[in-house]
Amino acid sequence: MSEREQSPRAGSTSADVVIVGTGHGGAQAAIALRQRGHEGSIMLIGRETAPPYERPPLSKEYLAGDKSFDRIMIRPKSFWADKGIELRLGAGVIAIDPRAHTLTLSDDATIGYRKLIWAGGADPRRLGVPGASFKRIFYVRDKRDADAMIRALEAGARRAVVIGGGYIGLEATAVLRGLDCEVTVVEMQDRLLPRVAGRDLASFYEAQHRERGVDFRLGTEVAQIVGEDGAVGGVTLGDGETLPCDMVVVGIGIVPAVAPLIAAGAAGSNGVDVDVYCRTTLDDIYAIGDCAAHANPFADSAVLRLESVQNAHDMANTAARAIMGEKEPYHALPWFWSNQYDLKLQTAGLNVGYDATVLRGDPADRRFTVVYLREGRPIAFDCVNMMKDYVQGRKMLEKGPERVDIELLADTDIQLKELI
Ligand code: FAD
Repeated sequence: MSEREQSPRAGSTSADVVIVGTGHGGAQAAIALRQRGHEGSIMLIGRETAPPYERPPLSKEYLAGDKSFDRIMIRPKSFWADKGIELRLGAGVIAIDPRAHTLTLSDDATIGYRKLIWAGGADPRRLGVPGASFKRIFYVRDKRDADAMIRALEAGARRAVVIGGGYIGLEATAVLRGLDCEVTVVEMQDRLLPRVAGRDLASFYEAQHRERGVDFRLGTEVAQIVGEDGAVGGVTLGDGETLPCDMVVVGIGIVPAVAPLIAAGAAGSNGVDVDVYCRTTLDDIYAIGDCAAHANPFADSAVLRLESVQNAHDMANTAARAIMGEKEPYHALPWFWSNQYDLKLQTAGLNVGYDATVLRGDPADRRFTVVYLREGRPIAFDCVNMMKDYVQGRKMLEKGPERVDIELLADTDIQLKELI
């Protein structure tokens, strides 16, 4: 029986493989299935109306106006039809019946599937303070968010408060400074990048932003947003200070978009749980990308979710392979990047559970690497304008964690590859 014939009977429409989510993971899953010779029907369902596009530029080149939408599309528009991949845009999945192998969409359609890949990503965590529904409060997750911010800037917004000192908040800050906006960053913790980076990197970025005129309020919570006639006019902090502004950008983390999967019975408390083949606990349902909690081999098998293009892309390949019958466990080295001003940060590995750091180079030169170690073994690299360290650091991690002489590691005259 061909795969097409095995497609389920139920549902007004069906496809052999249905993929939910048109972001990095969903798009790559469809591409990988075709690349690996999958001949059955593939349907890519997205609640956004835009065809699949890259998300990272939304807080970088797209927001800055340096790249048009056409340049951030994952593939040209015609690609999907050419490859026989049906794009079903503009309606989200609201329910799954795992026994009948069907999905219900927000436009009431029912879609049947033989295999389902859930690549729903995440929604931005919303501010929960009074005034949070004023106009000109922006989240940065999808194209509509970025477009709304661009419109506000075009309409003259020039004083911004950025809530959240993570990568997205800081990237948006760099773009806003480039557009001559006054920016104050508010971060609840006493330093920047608290979830993802060590203090060396955090202090460096704080100094770089301060040098360019950015103001900070660290260790402070937002108490409320104030304004008039529905429009934002300021952000009031826990200590009573009000920062006047005409726009607010919020980057305070994400919430995995998995409600229909969990309601259908899939296991998961932080997103949805998957095994090494990206299978959820529900038959024939896989999950990938930002929403998929997995035991990561580069974090001592800690169960976590990664929020990166690498992870979405590589998990998509793992799920596609598994559907094609090639069982290869997920084992991809995590990497990530962030661009702020002319600073290119590239990270490799995961710093989960590090107990020491070594600095290679001097942050004052704006070229340096932070090496994270656990029990004397490098487990992650944060490289600022240090392409060679990044490439060689990746190789080191891919080989497996080995003990390294700390003095040699700190010596920039010695290339990392010499230590492998
Ligand atoms: P997404 O790309 O978020 O795609 C999920 C899609 O599913 C969305 O289109 C969503 O609307 C849709 N969806 C959700 N629920 C449903 C439903 N019920 N029905 C139908 N559709 C649904 N990563 C990096 O590695 N480097 C970077 O520099 C970087 N910068 C970033 C900057 C920004 C502004 C953002 C937002 C993210 C950035 N990331 C970066 C993270 C990276 O973009 C994500 O990790 C990646 O997009 C995750 O891919 P995904 O497929 O899991 O989810």
